[in-house]
This record gives sequence, structure tokens and C-alpha cells, in this order.
Amino acid sequence: AEPPAAAAVPQACTDGLVLLRRVGVVDPGSLDDYRAHGGYAALRRAFALGPAGVIREVTEAGLVGRGGAAFPTGRKWSATAQQPDHPHYLVCNADESEPGTFKDRVLMEGDPYALIEAMTVAGYATGAHRGYLYLRGEYPRALRRLRTAIDRARSRGFLGKDVMGQGFAFDIEIRRGAGAYICGEETAIFNSIEGQRGEPRSKPPFPVEKGLFGKPTAVNNVETLVNVLPILIEGAPAYARTGTGTSTGTKLFCVSGTVARPGVYELPFGATLRELLELAGPPEALRAVLLGGAAGGFVRPDELDVPLTFEGTRAAGTTLGSGVVLVLDEGVELPRILLRIAEFFRDESCGQCVPCRVGTVRQEEALHRLKDRTGAAAAGDIALLREVGQAMRDASICGLGQTAWNAVESAIDRLGAFK
Ligand code: NAD
Ligand code: SF4
Repeated sequence: AEPPAAAAVPQACTDGLVLLRRVGVVDPGSLDDYRAHGGYAALRRAFALGPAGVIREVTEAGLVGRGGAAFPTGRKWSATAQQPDHPHYLVCNADESEPGTFKDRVLMEGDPYALIEAMTVAGYATGAHRGYLYLRGEYPRALRRLRTAIDRARSRGFLGKDVMGQGFAFDIEIRRGAGAYICGEETAIFNSIEGQRGEPRSKPPFPVEKGLFGKPTAVNNVETLVNVLPILIEGAPAYARTGTGTSTGTKLFCVSGTVARPGVYELPFGATLRELLELAGPPEALRAVLLGGAAGGFVRPDELDVPLTFEGTRAAGTTLGSGVVLVLDEGVELPRILLRIAEFFRDESCGQCVPCRVGTVRQEEALHRLKDRTGAAAAGDIALLREVGQAMRDASICGLGQTAWNAVESAIDRLGAFK
């Protein structure tokens, strides 16, 4: 039996919500309840606007990807829609495997029909008649609820050959990952869906041109897609009034570590890290906050007024990434955390390219040595880490290798690790 909705999702704050407004409020198994809470109004508006009109709204709203890379969604959709090659595909990246990221899980478990509706809008805008939802294998509750939602939407004419009687055919198939971090990389997802090893492909060509089965494909993260609903319901100008000029709307943050109230928080872009930590209950003696996950960077206690925007975190030498906010107090052993990050990347490297396959091993070895040493004895290993890190950043095929040294570099340069 399904537990009640409110108990089933991790804690989320409840004021001023846009993306989380139905989470813990609607019955995630009921299409009627979803509709009673505004569901399918956005798709109705999409049909009124037409595909080009939807893309225009999304572009004018300033929506950028929430998976971590912040690529403009309107540009991605427009590039896919314009491709002469057919069929077009839509892939929802619901692999969510960045350590410390659990926002998409909350959306999928708490408001599954929202993702189904948003995928249908995206398919309509980009000319795709088939959507693949690539779901993290470790999310069984999300799987059950999404399967139920897809079946019920199909049986009521919200998916299938004639969606809402508008002559548009669209359906969704769920594919599950099997625990590999690299299968969240968009081109590795294609290989996984096609039944091959989950290894990234070289880009370009970008998926918009040559993606799943070699066809034009729009790949979007769960949170990105769910943003399309308020954009269509409120209109682009109203949506863009929240946030800052270059980071519009709200953002989900996954707060974990030494805080009193860990969980998913939704805040307008531009709120400061200090404001977010005050909501979550910061530790008495803060050591640092890791922003953006294992591929991100550390923020010091004297930098908490950094605005939580793409541009603000970049200026502070880190990234918002997928919304990871990992809080560390003075009690943590930083070298152990860095070693754990290095182990993770070494474990999850697919081994396809040399800089990452060898570099992640060398990085872990150097951190092992450094953990037990300090001062002058450490200088050689720090120099080695820099050299290996730069080689991984410059010469790896995909984001895993390119960012595997980010957090370690940030800890050395910004927190004085190993001094
Ligand atoms: P990327 O910058 O290579 O690409 C971002 C998106 O834009 C992709 O969909 C790509 O196809 C598209 N794109 C880029 N240039 C394009 C162009 N010229 N034309 C058309 N499309 C273009 O980033 P990426 O490697 O896809 O993702 C890296 C990010 O993923 C990192 O920021 C990291 O934080 C994040 N990440 C998230 C998770 C998670 O669980 N959410 C896990 C691992 C990594
Ligand atoms: Fe595989 Fe690492 Fe190369 Fe990415 S960078 S393709 S994970 S070996």
C-alpha cells in the first residue's frame, strides 16, 4: 500500500512555492485531484499557443536547465524543433545521481502528473511523439507513482494517439538506470536506452541534432520541465519577475549535512546562502558549504552573502550545479570528505578515456597520502594533483572527468586543506 502523500516525501518548506506547491497537498495517485489543483491548464494553453508560441514563452521566460549546466531551454527546444530529420525524441533525465541531490525525487514522488504534463508540452513544442523518462534505479516509489500516472493519463486521453482531442500523438516510456552515475550523462542515457554500454559519446554533434537513435532529441531535467507549467500558466513576463535578470524563477535546493532541518527548499533566485541556511538551521560552528555537489566548490563562512544565482555563484568561484547545499561544521574531517569524493569519481568513471580513467586513480592515491601528512611533505602531492586535475579538465570526454578535480581544488585553494 502507498503511504499517504505528506509522509512519503522528504521535508519541504511550504511558503511561496511554485514548483513544490502541490507536493504533499495533492494525492499523487489521482488524476482528478491533480486537475482540481490546476493540472493540465498548461497543456491546454500550449495547444492554444502552438509549438512556436510555447517555445517563444519558454525563451522569453529565461528558463535555463536545472540539471546543473544552465543551458537555455528555449534554445534547445527551438534547435530540436527545426531539425529536418525525423522522428524527434524527448528524453527526461530523471537519473538524479549527483551526490546530495534529491529534488527531482520529491517532484516525481509528490507531483508525478506535473512531470507527465510537462513532458507532453515539451514533446508538442519540439515535434516529438515519443518521450523517454530515464529514471534513477534507486527510486522505486517514484517508479510506482509515475507508472500509475502514465497509465491513468493514457486511459483518460492525456497521453496517446489524440492528446486532449487536439490531434497530437504523444506517449511516454519509462526506462530505469541500474545505479551507474555516468548513465545520467545525456549521451550515456542514449546508449543505455539503445541497449548499449552506458558510456558518453563525444559532443558535438549535440543531441538536438543527433541524439537518441541518431535522431534530433531534446534532453531536459525533471525540474527544468516542471518549470514550464508555471511559465505557460502565468505567462513569461510574470514568471521572469521572480529571481534576477539572468536567473529567473525559483530554484530547488537540496540541503544536507550538519543542519537542523535538512530537505528540499524552494527559493527565488537571488536569495542568499545565508538566508537559505537560516531556514535550514545552520550549525553553531560552520566550517564550509559545498555548493553544486562533488563537481562544485566550497563557500567559506565569511562568504555566506553570496546570492544563489548562476552568475553569483560563478563569481564566487563555485556553481549552483544541481542545487546541492552540503553543510559542514568544524567537526568534519575535510581530508576524509575529499577522499570520499575522489573515491566516488574513481568508482564511477566509465574508463572510456585515459585522462579520467587514470587521473581519477592518481587523484585518489595522492589524497590518501595527503590525508596523513602536512606541510612541506605535502607540496609534491599538491603539485601532482594540480597537474592531473588540469589534464582531466582539459582532455576528458565528458563532464565527469572535466569536473572530478573541482571540489578538491576548491578545498585546497579556498579552505587551505592540507596546510
Ligand atoms: P553541457 O554544458 O555539455 O550541456 C548542457 C546541455 O546543453 C546539454 O543538454 C547539451 O546537449 C546542451 N548544449 C550545450 N551546447 C549546445 C549547443 N551548442 N547546441 C545545442 N545544445 C547544446 O553539460 P552536461 O555535461 O550535459 O552537464 C553537466 C552538468 O551536469 C554539470 O553542471 C553537473 O552539475 C550536472 N550534473 C547533474 C547531475 C544530477 O544528478 N542532476 C549529475 C551529474 C552532473
Ligand atoms: Fe568515461 Fe570519464 Fe571519459 Fe567521461 S571523462 S567518458 S566518465 S572515462
